[in-house]
Amino acid sequence: NDELFKNVIAHAKEYGFVFQSSEIYDGLSAVYDYGQYGAELKNNIKTYWWKAMVQLNENIVGIDSAIFMHPKIWEASGHVAGFNDPMIDNKDSKKRYRADQLLEDKIAKYEKDGKTAKAEALQTAMDDALKAEDFSRLKELIEEHEIADPVSGTRNWTEVRQFNLMFSTQFGAMAEGSDEVYLRPETAQGIFVNFLNVQKSGRMKIPFGIAQIGKAFRNEVIARQFILRMREFEQMEMQFFIKPGTEMEWFAHWKEARLKWHLALGTSTEKYRFHDHTKLAHYANAATDIEFEFPFGFKEVEGIHSRTDFDLSQHEKYSGKKLRFFDPQETDKEKQSYVPYVIETSIGLDRMFLLTLINAYEEQDLSEGDKKDSRVVLKFPPALAPIKATILPLTKKDGLPEKARDIMDKLKLDFNLQYDEKDSIGKRYRRQDAIGTPFCITVDHQTLEDNTVTIRERDTMIQERVNADDLEKIIGDLVSW
Ligand code: ATP
Repeated sequence: NDELFKNVIAHAKEYGFVFQSSEIYDGLSAVYDYGQYGAELKNNIKTYWWKAMVQLNENIVGIDSAIFMHPKIWEASGHVAGFNDPMIDNKDSKKRYRADQLLEDKIAKYEKDGKTAKAEALQTAMDDALKAEDFSRLKELIEEHEIADPVSGTRNWTEVRQFNLMFSTQFGAMAEGSDEVYLRPETAQGIFVNFLNVQKSGRMKIPFGIAQIGKAFRNEVIARQFILRMREFEQMEMQFFIKPGTEMEWFAHWKEARLKWHLALGTSTEKYRFHDHTKLAHYANAATDIEFEFPFGFKEVEGIHSRTDFDLSQHEKYSGKKLRFFDPQETDKEKQSYVPYVIETSIGLDRMFLLTLINAYEEQDLSEGDKKDSRVVLKFPPALAPIKATILPLTKKDGLPEKARDIMDKLKLDFNLQYDEKDSIGKRYRRQDAIGTPFCITVDHQTLEDNTVTIRERDTMIQERVNADDLEKIIGDLVSW
């Protein structure tokens, strides 16, 4: 599995999906760039989400709020006070670690060695310390369990300190009194603070949702597993505003709807599971993660949270503005105006990208007898594939390139296409397999006579002869949403 994951990462780079940021300067850790095919795949995932959430639900609208927001928002949301990781430094190696991660690793080690009782006791002690925000206790546990720095091997630890995950920067000119602002660590707050704007301007009635896709920034200390945990990433979030008391119903609804969205891509059900939270954040009354089985284990891809009226109430408090919904249909006057409850669905676009890539990646042995052959194919769902079809003239002469260009010009308004005339046809097919193109369309001498082309399907590698005039329908049928 390690091997497979390494191959996927290498493939992503070699074929223009994902690059390390600032690579020629030796990179910037936990920051990545999307290449020419990666950007297309990412856009297609966004479209799939946007269509499912906004286009198919009459009562959900999409917005695009700014990354910079008033600094008070992050006080109201609890991020200034609470969006922290407990960190500890080793004085010898000068390396910084998440204290809870060091303990988790120790617990895993105890479990591996069959010391179950020890593992459980440490888990409980750590959970208690985290809950009570007792950081000196965390340090005690690290010392009691003789946890050494994996780099220096020493146990020369500093105190445990809180480390806020938000990036900050200066807003406006750097004169005295310049204001500190944060890069948003989630897109959700941009939705909450626009609740009233959208509700009023769109005359929205509860229940209704506001969706948004956008960048978020977290100064993650432990950045691991490629694009699973990045410092700059993208979220696709939807806040669904509901009447208090209906939250369990809507929570169940969105749990099911969101899993369906994942499974509609054809991924096997076994790869997914729900992880219901037993320990809830203070503002939540139900929460679950949709987890996917990556080569390195099950990991959260999406969170679904019942957030009560926590966020809107906090913004009422901090802004002094009323953030309520007035329900004219409610006969009980006392209940006519209320702060809505919220069910949130929050999915990481980059994690969804990684999931899609891993799921699609296949190394195939195509050897026949002594004839060795193999290919790497990305079996993307056609709607997500970066390139929908590639037009290949069999040779570079006899008017075939001109005919191929002709066909391409007719189709390129509707589909993202590629044209390729370099190398043997077999090599060209392999290149398209490696980027997951569902169709290869070959223009040969017969095409000049009867306007037919061969169309090769990526997964089966079966070729068929069809009329060039039917291509639009054939491709359209397969790659449509
Ligand atoms: P984790 O526990 O993995 O750090 P989280 O519970 O903090 O995630 P949320 O705050 O619920 O995550 O964010 C919602 C989604 O945003 C996650 O399910 C994940 O897909 C994505 N996400 C969160 N942090 C990152 C990150 N650093 N890099 C990439 N995606 C992220």
